[in-house]
Amino acid sequence: MPTPDNLPRVVIVGAGFGGLACAQALGGKPVQVTLVDRRNYHLFVPLLYQVATAALSPADIARPIRRIVGRYKNIEVALGTVTSVDTAARRVRLSNGSELPYDKLVVATGSEYSYFGHPEWAEFAPGPRSLEDARRIRAQLLTSFERAEVSPDAARQDALMTTVIVGGGPTGVEMAGSVAELARHALARDFRNIDPRRAKIILIEAGPRILAGFPEPLSDYAKRALEKLGVTVITNEAVESIDAKGVVVAGRRIDAGTVIWGAGIKASPAAALLGATLDRAGRVPLNPDLSVKGVADVYALGDMASTPDEHGAPLPALAQVAAQQGAYLGRALAKSFADGKPLPPFKFHNRGNTAIVGRNAAVFDFGWMQLKGWFAWVMWALIHVYLLVGFDNRARVTLQWLWAYLTYQRGARLIMRDFDS
Ligand SMILES: Cc1cc2nc3c(=O)[nH]c(=O)nc-3n(C[C@H](O)[C@H](O)[C@H](O)COP(=O)(O)OP(=O)(O)OC[C@H]3O[C@@H](n4cnc5c(N)ncnc54)[C@H](O)[C@@H]3O)c2cc1C
Repeated sequence: MPTPDNLPRVVIVGAGFGGLACAQALGGKPVQVTLVDRRNYHLFVPLLYQVATAALSPADIARPIRRIVGRYKNIEVALGTVTSVDTAARRVRLSNGSELPYDKLVVATGSEYSYFGHPEWAEFAPGPRSLEDARRIRAQLLTSFERAEVSPDAARQDALMTTVIVGGGPTGVEMAGSVAELARHALARDFRNIDPRRAKIILIEAGPRILAGFPEPLSDYAKRALEKLGVTVITNEAVESIDAKGVVVAGRRIDAGTVIWGAGIKASPAAALLGATLDRAGRVPLNPDLSVKGVADVYALGDMASTPDEHGAPLPALAQVAAQQGAYLGRALAKSFADGKPLPPFKFHNRGNTAIVGRNAAVFDFGWMQLKGWFAWVMWALIHVYLLVGFDNRARVTLQWLWAYLTYQRGARLIMRDFDS
C-alpha cells in the first residue's frame, strides 16, 4: 500500500481552467498533488466583462480554490507566485521563498494582454483579465458618467460619455454591447444634467471585420446587432496612440472618458521560467502529449502553451481548450503512473465557439452549424451558467440575470474608490 511519502508528486501551477481540471482529474488517485496559485480563487474569466459593466459582482464569478478541491484528500493548495523552476533539480520556487519538489510539473498560468509594443497604454486602457481590472474598468465607466453630470461644459460631457473599446474579438464585442446596454437602460433615468442614452460607444478593429474567428455571416450579424444598440463599429483602422484623454485612430483624435483594451494577448511571463524556446506570442511549444519540448517531466497547457491542431495551426486561447487539456493530462498522468506506459496524444474536441452581443443577441459557431439571435443567446446563457463552478455561484448568476432581464437594472453599480482619486 503506497504511503503519501512514496506516492508520485505532481505540482500544478495555476488554478485556472486548465490547472483546475487537471487537479480534479487527479483527485482521489494515488498521487500527491500540490495546486499552486497566486490567488486564492478560481476565476470564471469569460464573465469578467459583466463585472466590468456592473451586471455581476466579483464573488459571482470567483470561487475559493480550497472550497473546490477540499474534498480530495490527496490535493493540497499552496498560495504563492511561482518565481523560478529548477528543471534539473525538479523544484519549483515560490515568491515566499518556499520550494516544492516534483516528479511531474504541470504549468497552466494563462495569458495577459499584449499592447503591441506599447506597454505604456496599459495605464490608460485596462482590459478585463482579472477582478482588479474589471473593478477598475467599472469604476472608470461609472466615474466618467458622474464627472459628466457635474461638468458645465457640453463638449467635455460628450467626451466623458464616450467609451472606446479597442479590439473587435469576442471580448471587445461583448464589452461594447454591455456598455451600450448599461448606458441606454440601467443609467438612463438616474441623472439630471446628462442623458446617458446619448453616450457614444465606439468599437475599433484594425482588421476588416469584427469576430474574425467566426464565419463571415456571424460577424455581419454581430456588427448589425451592435449598431442597433447604438455602437459605432470602425474596422480597418488601427489605434495609433492612447493617453489619459482618449485615443488617436488613423490620425483622428477621439476624446473619451473610458478606453478599454480587448485586443491581443501574450502568454503569462511564467512561460519563460521553463527553459524552452518560446514562440512569438511567448507561448511554450508542446509535444502531442502536452509535455514541454526539450524539458523532461514538465507539461504546460492552456493559454500559455502552443498546441498544434490536426492541421498544425495552434489551438485557440479558449477556456474549453485549457479545460480539455487539463482533464486529459490529469487522467493520462494517473494512468501512466499506474501502468508505466507513455501518455497518449491529446486530441481537442471542438464544442463550439460563442460570443454574446447583448440582450437576445449572440452567435454560436459549431463548425458544421451556425446559430445567431435569441436562440443562440439562450444557449450562451445556459452554457455559461452550467460551466460556472459551484451551485451557489450558478444560482446567484441565474437570479441576477433573470432580474436584469425583467428590469433592465444592474445591481453592481459600485465605484470602489474615492470619486476624486
Ligand atoms: C475577457 C475574456 C473573455 C473570454 N471569454 C471566453 C469565452 O467566452 N469562452 C472561452 O472558451 N474562452 C474565453 N476566454 C479565454 C479563456 O478565459 C482562457 O482561454 C482561459 O482562461 C485559459 O485558461 P488557463 O488555465 O490557461 O489560464 P487562466 O484561466 O487564466 O488561469 C491561470 C491561473 O494561473 C495563475 N497564475 C498566473 N501566473 C502565476 C504564477 N506565476 N504563479 C502562480 N499562479 C499564477 C492565475 O492566478 C490564474 O488562476 C476569455 C478570455 C478573456 C480575457
